[in-house]
Amino acid sequence: MPHTYDDQNIFAKILRGEIPNKTVTETDHTLAFEDIAPQAPHHVLVIPKGPYVTIDHFAAEANEVETMDFWRTFGRIIADLGVIDPGYRVLSNAGVHGLQEVPHFHLHVLAGRSLGPILVR
Ligand code: 5GP
Repeated sequence: MPHTYDDQNIFAKILRGEIPNKTVTETDHTLAFEDIAPQAPHHVLVIPKGPYVTIDHFAAEANEVETMDFWRTFGRIIADLGVIDPGYRVLSNAGVHGLQEVPHFHLHVLAGRSLGPILVR
């Protein structure tokens, strides 16, 4: 099974309120909160509330309401951060080669400085 959800992952615990977080915004289907180890002046994690392991899992199995809610919330976060200009970076690590640490789909939103090359070996 490529997408077996582990409900003991740290973001599942955050969603259940078992671990605190610095919430940026929350909707019925989406939560955005500050990364605990920010890599840029703004480092926000955007997650669906549903049990999706990776971005491809979410793309394949989230329903229309979850999908719309997620992307509209993402768009509002970018606007609210005020970073449409000069820009930002979004990335989502998946699986072993992606070095995904937390097996609950999340977007990293990085902004607030020039972010350098996309990959550093
Ligand atoms: P990944 O490597 O899975 O793409 O990234 C996981 C991210 O989650 C990392 O940037 C890490 O700093 C962040 N993170 C891990 N544990 C916690 C936590 O308990 N709270 C918050 N806010 N972020 C966390």
